[in-house]
Amino acid sequence: MQVAAQTEARSFASYNPATGEVLREFVCASKDEVDAAVARAHAVQSEWQALGVRRRIQILRRFQRRLQERKSEVAQLITQEAGKPLGESLLTEIFVVLDAARFCLHTAYSFLRPQRVPHGSPIMKTKSGWLLHEPHGVIGIISPWNYPLSTPATESVAALVTGNAVVLKPSELTPLVGLKLADLLHEAGVPKDVFQVLIGDGSTGAALVDAQIDKIVFTGSVATGRRIAEAAAPRFLPVVLELGGKDPMIVLEDADLDTASSAAVWGAFMNAGQTCLSVERCYVHRSLYPQFVQACVKKTRELHVGKGADGTTEMGPMISERQLRIVESHVEEARSAGARVLTGGKRLPEIGANFYAPTVLADVTHRMRIVTEETFGPILPIMPFDTEDEAIQLANDSIYGLSASVWTKNRARGESVARRVYTGTVMVNDLLSGFAISEAPHGGFRDSGIGRTHGRLGMEEMVRVKYVDSDRLPRMKKLWWYGYGPAFAAQMEGFIDALFARSPSQRLAGALRSLAALRKKKMI
Ligand code: NAD
Repeated sequence: MQVAAQTEARSFASYNPATGEVLREFVCASKDEVDAAVARAHAVQSEWQALGVRRRIQILRRFQRRLQERKSEVAQLITQEAGKPLGESLLTEIFVVLDAARFCLHTAYSFLRPQRVPHGSPIMKTKSGWLLHEPHGVIGIISPWNYPLSTPATESVAALVTGNAVVLKPSELTPLVGLKLADLLHEAGVPKDVFQVLIGDGSTGAALVDAQIDKIVFTGSVATGRRIAEAAAPRFLPVVLELGGKDPMIVLEDADLDTASSAAVWGAFMNAGQTCLSVERCYVHRSLYPQFVQACVKKTRELHVGKGADGTTEMGPMISERQLRIVESHVEEARSAGARVLTGGKRLPEIGANFYAPTVLADVTHRMRIVTEETFGPILPIMPFDTEDEAIQLANDSIYGLSASVWTKNRARGESVARRVYTGTVMVNDLLSGFAISEAPHGGFRDSGIGRTHGRLGMEEMVRVKYVDSDRLPRMKKLWWYGYGPAFAAQMEGFIDALFARSPSQRLAGALRSLAALRKKKMI
Protein backbone atom coordinates (compact mmCIF):
# COMPACT_ATOMS: atom_id res chain seq x y z
CA MET A 1 0.00 0.00 0.00
CA GLN A 2 2.72 2.42 1.08
CA VAL A 3 4.94 1.42 -1.88
CA ALA A 4 2.07 2.06 -4.33
CA ALA A 5 1.45 5.50 -2.81
CA GLN A 6 5.15 6.37 -3.13
CA THR A 7 5.29 5.26 -6.76
CA GLU A 8 2.22 7.33 -7.53
CA ALA A 9 3.69 10.41 -5.84
CA ARG A 10 6.83 10.12 -7.95
CA SER A 11 5.17 10.08 -11.32
CA PHE A 12 4.00 13.18 -13.17
CA ALA A 13 2.88 14.47 -16.54
CA SER A 14 4.23 17.15 -18.81
CA TYR A 15 1.41 19.18 -20.30
CA ASN A 16 0.71 22.06 -22.64
CA PRO A 17 -0.08 25.07 -20.42
CA ALA A 18 -2.12 26.71 -23.20
CA THR A 19 -4.51 23.80 -23.65
CA GLY A 20 -4.08 21.49 -20.66
CA GLU A 21 -3.28 18.60 -23.03
CA VAL A 22 -1.08 15.94 -21.44
CA LEU A 23 2.07 15.59 -23.56
CA ARG A 24 3.75 12.66 -21.81
CA GLU A 25 3.80 10.81 -18.50
CA PHE A 26 7.04 10.36 -16.58
CA VAL A 27 8.32 8.61 -13.50
CA CYS A 28 10.87 10.51 -11.40
CA ALA A 29 14.40 9.14 -11.42
CA SER A 30 15.09 7.50 -8.05
CA LYS A 31 18.10 8.16 -5.83
CA ASP A 32 19.71 4.93 -7.06
CA GLU A 33 19.21 5.97 -10.68
CA VAL A 34 20.71 9.38 -9.94
CA ASP A 35 23.76 7.81 -8.23
CA ALA A 36 24.20 5.39 -11.13
CA ALA A 37 24.03 8.21 -13.70
CA VAL A 38 26.66 10.24 -11.81
CA ALA A 39 28.91 7.15 -11.54
CA ARG A 40 28.64 6.60 -15.33
CA ALA A 41 29.47 10.26 -15.89
CA HIS A 42 32.60 9.93 -13.73
CA ALA A 43 33.65 6.82 -15.66
CA VAL A 44 33.73 8.67 -18.99
CA GLN A 45 34.68 12.22 -17.97
CA SER A 46 38.44 11.76 -18.17
CA GLU A 47 38.12 10.34 -21.71
CA TRP A 48 36.07 13.39 -22.73
CA GLN A 49 38.70 15.63 -21.17
CA ALA A 50 41.48 13.72 -22.91
CA LEU A 51 39.85 14.27 -26.32
CA GLY A 52 41.23 17.79 -26.09
CA VAL A 53 39.60 21.13 -26.56
CA ARG A 54 39.87 21.22 -30.37
CA ARG A 55 37.92 17.99 -30.74
CA ARG A 56 35.32 19.03 -28.18
CA ILE A 57 34.84 22.31 -30.06
CA GLN A 58 34.28 20.35 -33.30
CA ILE A 59 31.62 18.17 -31.67
CA LEU A 60 29.83 21.09 -30.05
CA ARG A 61 29.94 23.02 -33.32
CA ARG A 62 27.98 20.15 -34.82
CA PHE A 63 25.44 20.60 -32.00
CA GLN A 64 25.20 24.31 -32.83
CA ARG A 65 24.64 23.51 -36.51
CA ARG A 66 21.97 20.93 -35.74
CA LEU A 67 20.11 23.33 -33.48
CA GLN A 68 20.17 25.99 -36.19
CA GLU A 69 18.87 23.49 -38.78
CA ARG A 70 16.13 22.20 -36.48
CA LYS A 71 15.22 25.58 -34.98
CA SER A 72 11.53 25.47 -35.99
CA GLU A 73 10.91 21.98 -34.64
CA VAL A 74 12.68 22.77 -31.32
CA ALA A 75 10.94 26.16 -31.00
CA GLN A 76 7.56 24.48 -31.51
CA LEU A 77 8.33 21.99 -28.75
CA ILE A 78 9.33 24.83 -26.38
CA THR A 79 6.11 26.68 -27.17
CA GLN A 80 4.11 23.51 -26.66
CA GLU A 81 5.61 22.73 -23.26
CA ALA A 82 6.33 26.24 -21.84
CA GLY A 83 3.54 28.23 -23.54
CA LYS A 84 5.55 31.18 -24.86
CA PRO A 85 4.89 32.70 -28.32
CA LEU A 86 6.77 30.93 -31.11
CA GLY A 87 8.80 34.06 -31.92
CA GLU A 88 9.99 34.23 -28.30
CA SER A 89 11.01 30.55 -28.43
CA LEU A 90 13.17 31.38 -31.43
CA LEU A 91 14.58 34.61 -29.98
CA THR A 92 15.04 33.93 -26.27
CA GLU A 93 15.84 30.23 -26.50
CA ILE A 94 17.29 29.13 -29.85
CA PHE A 95 19.09 32.38 -30.73
CA VAL A 96 20.46 32.74 -27.19
CA VAL A 97 21.87 29.19 -27.23
CA LEU A 98 23.37 29.52 -30.72
CA ASP A 99 25.10 32.76 -29.77
CA ALA A 100 26.30 31.46 -26.40
CA ALA A 101 27.76 28.46 -28.27
CA ARG A 102 29.47 30.87 -30.71
CA PHE A 103 31.10 32.64 -27.77
CA CYS A 104 32.10 29.48 -25.85
CA LEU A 105 33.48 27.67 -28.90
CA HIS A 106 35.37 30.76 -30.03
CA THR A 107 36.80 31.40 -26.56
CA ALA A 108 37.45 27.90 -25.22
CA TYR A 109 40.85 27.31 -26.81
CA SER A 110 42.49 30.48 -25.50
CA PHE A 111 40.58 30.22 -22.21
CA LEU A 112 41.99 26.76 -21.49
CA ARG A 113 45.57 27.64 -22.48
CA PRO A 114 47.89 27.75 -19.45
CA GLN A 115 48.20 31.33 -18.31
CA ARG A 116 51.56 32.71 -17.22
CA VAL A 117 51.74 34.30 -13.75
CA PRO A 118 54.57 36.83 -13.71
CA HIS A 119 56.66 37.03 -10.51
CA GLY A 120 57.33 40.58 -9.35
CA SER A 121 59.47 39.85 -6.31
CA PRO A 122 63.23 39.61 -7.08
CA ILE A 123 63.69 36.57 -4.81
CA MET A 124 61.06 34.66 -6.82
CA LYS A 125 62.63 35.42 -10.19
CA THR A 126 64.12 31.94 -10.56
CA LYS A 127 60.65 30.44 -10.96
CA SER A 128 57.89 30.52 -13.47
CA GLY A 129 54.25 30.02 -12.58
CA TRP A 130 51.18 28.99 -14.55
CA LEU A 131 47.47 28.87 -14.05
CA LEU A 132 45.87 25.71 -15.37
CA HIS A 133 42.11 25.56 -15.97
CA GLU A 134 40.96 22.02 -15.29
CA PRO A 135 37.41 20.71 -15.48
CA HIS A 136 35.69 20.09 -12.16
CA GLY A 137 34.71 16.58 -13.28
CA VAL A 138 30.96 15.96 -13.19
CA ILE A 139 28.77 19.05 -13.04
CA GLY A 140 25.15 18.77 -11.92
CA ILE A 141 22.84 21.28 -13.59
CA ILE A 142 19.34 21.86 -12.20
CA SER A 143 17.17 24.16 -14.27
CA PRO A 144 13.74 25.84 -14.20
CA TRP A 145 10.84 25.78 -16.67
CA ASN A 146 10.75 29.42 -17.81
CA TYR A 147 13.73 29.12 -20.19
CA PRO A 148 13.74 25.35 -20.59
CA LEU A 149 16.33 25.33 -23.39
CA SER A 150 18.44 28.46 -23.04
CA THR A 151 19.19 28.08 -19.33
CA PRO A 152 20.45 24.48 -19.31
CA ALA A 153 21.93 24.58 -22.83
CA THR A 154 24.11 27.67 -22.31
CA GLU A 155 25.41 26.22 -19.04
CA SER A 156 25.92 22.75 -20.54
CA VAL A 157 27.90 24.01 -23.55
CA ALA A 158 30.25 25.94 -21.22
CA ALA A 159 30.63 22.87 -18.98
CA LEU A 160 31.19 20.42 -21.84
CA VAL A 161 33.66 22.48 -23.86
CA THR A 162 35.84 22.89 -20.77
CA GLY A 163 35.97 19.09 -20.38
CA ASN A 164 33.31 18.30 -17.80
CA ALA A 165 30.63 15.63 -17.93
CA VAL A 166 27.13 16.95 -17.20
CA VAL A 167 24.11 15.46 -15.46
CA LEU A 168 21.09 17.70 -16.07
CA LYS A 169 17.87 17.67 -14.06
CA PRO A 170 15.42 19.85 -16.02
CA SER A 171 12.22 21.20 -14.47
CA GLU A 172 9.44 18.66 -14.07
CA LEU A 173 7.27 21.14 -16.01
CA THR A 174 9.47 21.04 -19.13
CA PRO A 175 11.14 17.59 -19.29
CA LEU A 176 10.58 17.16 -23.04
CA VAL A 177 12.76 20.17 -23.84
CA GLY A 178 15.48 18.77 -21.57
CA LEU A 179 15.34 15.46 -23.44
CA LYS A 180 15.47 17.30 -26.78
CA LEU A 181 18.67 19.02 -25.69
CA ALA A 182 20.16 15.60 -24.91
CA ASP A 183 19.11 14.26 -28.36
CA LEU A 184 20.79 17.18 -30.13
CA LEU A 185 24.02 16.86 -28.15
CA HIS A 186 24.17 13.07 -28.61
CA GLU A 187 23.46 13.29 -32.34
CA ALA A 188 26.33 15.79 -32.57
CA GLY A 189 28.70 13.25 -31.03
CA VAL A 190 28.73 14.02 -27.31
CA PRO A 191 28.90 10.53 -25.74
CA LYS A 192 25.68 9.46 -24.00
CA ASP A 193 27.23 9.25 -20.53
CA VAL A 194 29.06 12.56 -20.91
CA PHE A 195 25.72 14.35 -21.09
CA GLN A 196 22.80 12.73 -19.26
CA VAL A 197 19.34 13.96 -18.40
CA LEU A 198 17.50 12.80 -15.30
CA ILE A 199 13.78 13.40 -15.32
CA GLY A 200 12.07 14.12 -12.04
CA ASP A 201 10.81 16.63 -9.52
CA GLY A 202 12.51 18.28 -6.55
CA SER A 203 13.34 14.94 -4.94
CA THR A 204 15.36 13.92 -8.01
CA GLY A 205 17.09 17.32 -7.87
CA ALA A 206 17.87 16.83 -4.17
CA ALA A 207 19.30 13.37 -4.95
CA LEU A 208 21.54 14.93 -7.61
CA VAL A 209 22.89 17.47 -5.10
CA ASP A 210 23.58 14.57 -2.69
CA ALA A 211 25.29 12.43 -5.36
CA GLN A 212 29.04 12.45 -6.01
CA ILE A 213 29.01 15.46 -8.33
CA ASP A 214 31.86 17.97 -8.25
CA LYS A 215 29.85 21.16 -8.68
CA ILE A 216 26.19 22.17 -8.87
CA VAL A 217 24.88 24.91 -11.14
CA PHE A 218 21.34 25.71 -10.05
CA THR A 219 18.81 28.10 -11.57
CA GLY A 220 15.48 28.54 -9.84
CA SER A 221 13.74 30.06 -6.85
CA VAL A 222 15.41 31.54 -3.78
CA ALA A 223 13.73 28.96 -1.52
CA THR A 224 15.14 26.01 -3.47
CA GLY A 225 18.50 27.76 -3.88
CA ARG A 226 18.76 28.09 -0.11
CA ARG A 227 17.97 24.37 0.35
CA ILE A 228 20.66 23.49 -2.18
CA ALA A 229 23.24 25.74 -0.51
CA GLU A 230 22.48 24.05 2.83
CA ALA A 231 22.76 20.56 1.32
CA ALA A 232 26.03 21.49 -0.40
CA ALA A 233 27.66 23.15 2.62
CA PRO A 234 28.70 20.11 4.73
CA ARG A 235 30.93 18.78 1.94
CA PHE A 236 31.88 22.20 0.51
CA LEU A 237 30.30 21.29 -2.83
CA PRO A 238 30.88 24.40 -4.98
CA VAL A 239 27.63 26.01 -6.10
CA VAL A 240 26.43 28.54 -8.62
CA LEU A 241 23.00 29.84 -7.69
CA GLU A 242 21.03 31.85 -10.27
CA LEU A 243 17.91 32.82 -8.34
CA GLY A 244 14.95 35.17 -8.47
CA GLY A 245 14.72 38.89 -8.98
CA LYS A 246 12.49 41.93 -8.52
CA ASP A 247 14.06 44.03 -11.21
CA PRO A 248 13.52 47.78 -11.08
CA MET A 249 13.19 50.10 -14.08
CA ILE A 250 14.05 53.75 -13.43
CA VAL A 251 12.59 56.27 -15.88
CA LEU A 252 14.28 59.65 -15.40
CA GLU A 253 12.54 62.91 -16.35
CA ASP A 254 14.54 63.24 -19.59
CA ALA A 255 13.70 59.73 -20.88
CA ASP A 256 12.03 59.23 -24.23
CA LEU A 257 8.50 58.49 -23.10
CA ASP A 258 7.43 56.46 -26.12
CA THR A 259 10.56 54.25 -26.05
CA ALA A 260 10.55 53.77 -22.28
CA SER A 261 6.84 52.88 -22.13
CA SER A 262 7.28 50.32 -24.95
CA ALA A 263 10.25 48.88 -23.05
CA ALA A 264 8.24 48.67 -19.82
CA VAL A 265 5.42 46.80 -21.55
CA TRP A 266 7.76 44.33 -23.29
CA GLY A 267 9.95 43.96 -20.21
CA ALA A 268 6.99 43.18 -17.97
CA PHE A 269 4.95 40.93 -20.28
CA MET A 270 7.51 39.05 -22.36
CA ASN A 271 7.12 35.33 -21.54
CA ALA A 272 4.01 36.40 -19.55
CA GLY A 273 6.32 38.08 -17.04
CA GLN A 274 7.90 34.74 -16.14
CA THR A 275 11.48 35.88 -16.60
CA CYS A 276 13.99 36.35 -13.80
CA LEU A 277 14.93 39.66 -15.50
CA SER A 278 11.34 40.89 -16.02
CA VAL A 279 10.47 44.46 -15.10
CA GLU A 280 8.80 43.84 -11.76
CA ARG A 281 8.84 47.45 -10.48
CA CYS A 282 8.76 50.62 -12.54
CA TYR A 283 9.75 53.97 -11.00
CA VAL A 284 8.87 57.02 -13.11
CA HIS A 285 9.71 60.67 -12.51
CA ARG A 286 6.57 62.47 -11.34
CA SER A 287 6.71 64.91 -14.27
CA LEU A 288 6.26 62.00 -16.72
CA TYR A 289 4.16 59.75 -14.52
CA PRO A 290 0.58 60.43 -15.86
CA GLN A 291 1.60 60.28 -19.54
CA PHE A 292 3.85 57.26 -18.96
CA VAL A 293 1.12 55.30 -17.17
CA GLN A 294 -1.36 56.22 -19.89
CA ALA A 295 1.02 55.08 -22.65
CA CYS A 296 1.66 51.76 -20.87
CA VAL A 297 -2.07 51.13 -20.47
CA LYS A 298 -2.73 51.90 -24.14
CA LYS A 299 0.12 49.64 -25.35
CA THR A 300 -0.88 46.85 -22.96
CA ARG A 301 -4.47 46.86 -24.23
CA GLU A 302 -3.15 46.42 -27.76
CA LEU A 303 -1.33 43.17 -26.91
CA HIS A 304 -2.63 39.99 -28.45
CA VAL A 305 -2.95 37.36 -25.73
CA GLY A 306 -3.41 33.81 -26.94
CA LYS A 307 -1.86 30.42 -27.48
CA GLY A 308 1.85 30.65 -28.20
CA ALA A 309 1.53 28.55 -31.33
CA ASP A 310 -0.80 31.13 -32.98
CA GLY A 311 1.26 33.37 -35.21
CA THR A 312 -0.10 36.69 -33.88
CA THR A 313 0.21 35.92 -30.18
CA GLU A 314 2.32 38.36 -28.16
CA MET A 315 1.67 36.93 -24.73
CA GLY A 316 0.90 33.32 -23.91
CA PRO A 317 -0.36 31.50 -20.81
CA MET A 318 1.25 31.23 -17.43
CA ILE A 319 2.94 27.94 -16.74
CA SER A 320 0.62 26.62 -14.01
CA GLU A 321 -2.33 27.23 -11.73
CA ARG A 322 0.15 27.55 -8.85
CA GLN A 323 1.96 30.44 -10.55
CA LEU A 324 -1.38 32.07 -11.41
CA ARG A 325 -2.47 31.99 -7.78
CA ILE A 326 0.68 33.83 -6.67
CA VAL A 327 0.00 36.54 -9.26
CA GLU A 328 -3.64 36.80 -8.25
CA SER A 329 -2.83 37.08 -4.57
CA HIS A 330 -0.25 39.85 -5.19
CA VAL A 331 -2.70 41.83 -7.36
CA GLU A 332 -5.62 41.43 -4.95
CA GLU A 333 -3.53 42.46 -1.97
CA ALA A 334 -2.26 45.55 -3.83
CA ARG A 335 -5.77 46.44 -5.01
CA SER A 336 -7.18 46.29 -1.48
CA ALA A 337 -4.24 48.36 -0.18
CA GLY A 338 -5.04 51.20 -2.61
CA ALA A 339 -3.26 50.40 -5.89
CA ARG A 340 -5.24 51.24 -9.05
CA VAL A 341 -5.68 48.39 -11.55
CA LEU A 342 -5.74 50.31 -14.83
CA THR A 343 -6.02 47.35 -17.17
CA GLY A 344 -6.10 43.58 -16.69
CA GLY A 345 -6.19 42.30 -13.13
CA LYS A 346 -8.14 39.17 -14.00
CA ARG A 347 -7.95 35.69 -15.49
CA LEU A 348 -8.91 35.09 -19.11
CA PRO A 349 -10.77 31.74 -18.91
CA GLU A 350 -12.25 32.29 -22.37
CA ILE A 351 -8.76 31.60 -23.80
CA GLY A 352 -7.71 28.86 -21.39
CA ALA A 353 -7.32 27.95 -17.74
CA ASN A 354 -3.79 29.35 -17.36
CA PHE A 355 -4.27 32.76 -18.96
CA TYR A 356 -4.03 36.00 -16.98
CA ALA A 357 -4.51 39.42 -18.55
CA PRO A 358 -1.46 41.70 -18.84
CA THR A 359 -1.98 44.10 -15.96
CA VAL A 360 -0.88 47.66 -15.25
CA LEU A 361 -1.03 48.86 -11.65
CA ALA A 362 -0.51 52.46 -10.58
CA ASP A 363 0.10 53.97 -7.16
CA VAL A 364 1.78 50.91 -5.68
CA THR A 365 3.97 51.27 -2.58
CA HIS A 366 6.81 49.41 -0.89
CA ARG A 367 4.37 48.07 1.68
CA MET A 368 2.81 45.81 -0.98
CA ARG A 369 4.14 42.33 -1.84
CA ILE A 370 3.69 43.21 -5.52
CA VAL A 371 6.68 45.55 -5.03
CA THR A 372 8.71 43.54 -2.54
CA GLU A 373 8.31 39.86 -3.55
CA GLU A 374 8.93 38.24 -6.91
CA THR A 375 5.54 38.02 -8.67
CA PHE A 376 6.72 36.21 -11.81
CA GLY A 377 3.66 37.09 -13.85
CA PRO A 378 2.32 39.64 -16.36
CA ILE A 379 2.12 42.60 -13.98
CA LEU A 380 3.58 46.09 -14.43
CA PRO A 381 3.45 48.02 -11.14
CA ILE A 382 4.33 51.70 -11.58
CA MET A 383 5.06 54.34 -8.94
CA PRO A 384 6.28 57.94 -9.14
CA PHE A 385 9.44 59.49 -7.66
CA ASP A 386 10.62 63.08 -7.25
CA THR A 387 14.42 62.97 -7.20
CA GLU A 388 17.18 60.80 -8.65
CA ASP A 389 18.35 59.91 -5.12
CA GLU A 390 14.85 58.76 -4.20
CA ALA A 391 14.63 56.58 -7.35
CA ILE A 392 17.96 54.90 -6.54
CA GLN A 393 16.96 54.38 -2.92
CA LEU A 394 13.66 52.77 -4.02
CA ALA A 395 15.43 50.56 -6.57
CA ASN A 396 17.92 49.38 -3.93
CA ASP A 397 15.21 48.74 -1.33
CA SER A 398 14.93 45.02 -2.09
CA ILE A 399 16.20 41.66 -0.90
CA TYR A 400 17.02 40.92 -4.55
CA GLY A 401 19.76 42.29 -6.79
CA LEU A 402 19.56 40.61 -10.18
CA SER A 403 19.30 43.38 -12.77
CA ALA A 404 17.91 46.85 -13.38
CA SER A 405 17.48 49.42 -16.11
CA VAL A 406 17.83 53.21 -16.29
CA TRP A 407 16.12 55.33 -18.95
CA THR A 408 17.42 58.76 -19.94
CA LYS A 409 18.55 60.65 -23.05
CA ASN A 410 21.75 61.55 -21.18
CA ARG A 411 24.00 58.49 -21.33
CA ALA A 412 26.55 59.82 -18.86
CA ARG A 413 23.80 60.43 -16.33
CA GLY A 414 22.37 56.96 -16.96
CA GLU A 415 25.77 55.37 -16.39
CA SER A 416 26.27 57.37 -13.20
CA VAL A 417 22.91 56.16 -11.87
CA ALA A 418 23.80 52.61 -12.98
CA ARG A 419 26.89 52.68 -10.72
CA ARG A 420 24.68 53.41 -7.71
CA VAL A 421 22.15 50.63 -8.34
CA TYR A 422 22.91 47.45 -6.42
CA THR A 423 22.31 44.67 -8.97
CA GLY A 424 24.47 42.23 -10.93
CA THR A 425 23.55 43.91 -14.23
CA VAL A 426 22.32 47.41 -14.99
CA MET A 427 21.33 48.37 -18.52
CA VAL A 428 20.99 51.97 -19.69
CA ASN A 429 18.21 52.46 -22.26
CA ASP A 430 17.56 48.75 -22.70
CA LEU A 431 16.48 45.80 -20.61
CA LEU A 432 16.61 42.01 -20.63
CA SER A 433 18.93 41.85 -23.64
CA GLY A 434 21.97 41.45 -21.37
CA PHE A 435 21.06 37.75 -21.23
CA ALA A 436 21.55 37.56 -25.00
CA ILE A 437 24.97 39.26 -24.92
CA SER A 438 27.00 36.08 -24.73
CA GLU A 439 30.17 37.91 -23.65
CA ALA A 440 28.36 39.42 -20.64
CA PRO A 441 28.13 37.64 -17.28
CA HIS A 442 24.72 36.83 -15.83
CA GLY A 443 24.00 36.68 -12.11
CA GLY A 444 22.97 38.71 -9.13
CA PHE A 445 23.69 40.12 -5.70
CA ARG A 446 21.91 39.49 -2.39
CA ASP A 447 19.14 36.83 -2.57
CA SER A 448 19.47 36.73 -6.37
CA GLY A 449 22.33 34.30 -5.95
CA ILE A 450 26.00 33.45 -6.04
CA GLY A 451 28.34 33.14 -9.00
CA ARG A 452 27.87 33.82 -12.68
CA THR A 453 26.82 32.03 -15.84
CA HIS A 454 27.50 33.29 -19.41
CA GLY A 455 30.59 35.04 -20.68
CA ARG A 456 34.12 34.40 -19.52
CA LEU A 457 33.08 34.54 -15.87
CA GLY A 458 30.53 31.82 -16.60
CA MET A 459 33.25 29.65 -18.14
CA GLU A 460 35.44 30.24 -15.10
CA GLU A 461 32.72 28.66 -12.95
CA MET A 462 33.14 25.45 -14.98
CA VAL A 463 36.82 24.97 -14.17
CA ARG A 464 39.00 24.74 -11.13
CA VAL A 465 42.10 26.82 -11.30
CA LYS A 466 45.33 25.08 -10.44
CA TYR A 467 48.54 27.00 -9.90
CA VAL A 468 51.74 25.23 -10.98
CA ASP A 469 55.11 26.76 -10.16
CA SER A 470 58.44 25.48 -11.35
CA ASP A 471 61.93 26.56 -10.24
CA ARG A 472 64.62 26.90 -12.91
CA LEU A 473 67.47 26.20 -10.45
CA PRO A 474 66.70 22.76 -9.03
CA ARG A 475 70.00 22.50 -7.14
CA MET A 476 69.77 25.86 -5.37
CA LYS A 477 68.78 25.86 -1.70
CA LYS A 478 66.39 28.69 -0.98
CA LEU A 479 67.74 31.62 1.01
CA TRP A 480 64.85 31.49 3.47
CA TRP A 481 65.27 27.83 4.48
CA TYR A 482 66.66 26.69 7.84
CA GLY A 483 69.82 28.13 9.27
CA TYR A 484 67.93 30.69 11.38
CA GLY A 485 69.75 32.89 13.89
CA PRO A 486 70.92 36.49 14.19
CA ALA A 487 72.43 36.40 10.69
CA PHE A 488 69.14 35.29 9.18
CA ALA A 489 67.19 38.02 11.00
CA ALA A 490 69.73 40.64 9.82
CA GLN A 491 69.53 39.24 6.31
CA MET A 492 65.72 39.56 6.35
CA GLU A 493 65.78 43.10 7.79
CA GLY A 494 68.23 44.22 5.15
CA PHE A 495 66.23 42.49 2.47
CA ILE A 496 62.95 44.17 3.53
CA ASP A 497 64.68 47.57 3.49
CA ALA A 498 66.22 46.80 0.08
CA LEU A 499 62.78 46.27 -1.38
CA PHE A 500 60.52 48.62 0.51
CA ALA A 501 62.52 51.45 2.19
CA ARG A 502 61.49 54.94 1.19
CA SER A 503 64.73 56.34 -0.36
CA PRO A 504 67.13 54.77 -2.89
CA SER A 505 70.04 55.19 -0.43
CA GLN A 506 68.12 53.29 2.32
CA ARG A 507 67.29 50.56 -0.20
CA LEU A 508 70.94 50.27 -1.27
CA ALA A 509 72.11 50.12 2.37
CA GLY A 510 69.51 47.41 3.05
CA ALA A 511 70.73 45.34 0.09
CA LEU A 512 74.33 45.54 1.26
CA ARG A 513 73.41 44.57 4.86
CA SER A 514 71.38 41.66 3.57
CA LEU A 515 74.24 40.36 1.41
CA ALA A 516 76.72 40.73 4.26
CA ALA A 517 74.42 38.79 6.62
CA LEU A 518 73.81 36.14 3.99
CA ARG A 519 77.52 35.34 3.90
CA LYS A 520 77.42 34.64 7.64
CA LYS A 521 74.31 32.43 7.49
CA LYS A 522 74.85 28.67 7.82
CA MET A 523 72.50 26.92 5.43
CA ILE A 524 71.60 23.38 6.37
P1 NAD B 1 12.11 26.03 -8.48
O1 NAD B 1 13.10 26.46 -7.47
O2 NAD B 1 10.76 25.63 -8.00
O3 NAD B 1 12.66 24.80 -9.33
C1 NAD B 1 13.86 24.88 -10.06
C2 NAD B 1 14.42 23.49 -10.23
O4 NAD B 1 14.82 22.99 -8.95
C3 NAD B 1 13.44 22.47 -10.79
O5 NAD B 1 14.13 21.64 -11.70
C4 NAD B 1 13.01 21.69 -9.57
O6 NAD B 1 12.59 20.37 -9.83
C5 NAD B 1 14.30 21.68 -8.75
N1 NAD B 1 14.13 21.47 -7.31
C6 NAD B 1 13.05 21.72 -6.53
N2 NAD B 1 13.32 21.41 -5.24
C7 NAD B 1 14.60 20.96 -5.20
C8 NAD B 1 15.46 20.52 -4.16
N3 NAD B 1 15.08 20.47 -2.89
N4 NAD B 1 16.73 20.15 -4.47
C9 NAD B 1 17.16 20.22 -5.75
N5 NAD B 1 16.38 20.63 -6.78
C10 NAD B 1 15.11 21.00 -6.52
O7 NAD B 1 12.00 27.23 -9.53
P2 NAD B 1 11.05 27.32 -10.80
O8 NAD B 1 9.67 27.62 -10.35
O9 NAD B 1 11.27 26.15 -11.69
O10 NAD B 1 11.65 28.58 -11.55
C11 NAD B 1 11.26 29.87 -11.29
C12 NAD B 1 12.31 30.60 -10.46
O11 NAD B 1 13.57 30.53 -11.11
C13 NAD B 1 12.01 32.08 -10.31
O12 NAD B 1 12.28 32.46 -8.99
C14 NAD B 1 13.00 32.73 -11.26
O13 NAD B 1 13.33 34.05 -10.92
C15 NAD B 1 14.15 31.82 -11.14
N6 NAD B 1 15.02 31.94 -12.31
C16 NAD B 1 16.21 32.57 -12.16
C17 NAD B 1 17.04 32.73 -13.26
C18 NAD B 1 18.37 33.40 -13.13
O14 NAD B 1 19.17 33.23 -14.04
N7 NAD B 1 18.67 34.11 -12.07
C19 NAD B 1 16.65 32.27 -14.52
C20 NAD B 1 15.42 31.64 -14.63
C21 NAD B 1 14.61 31.49 -13.52
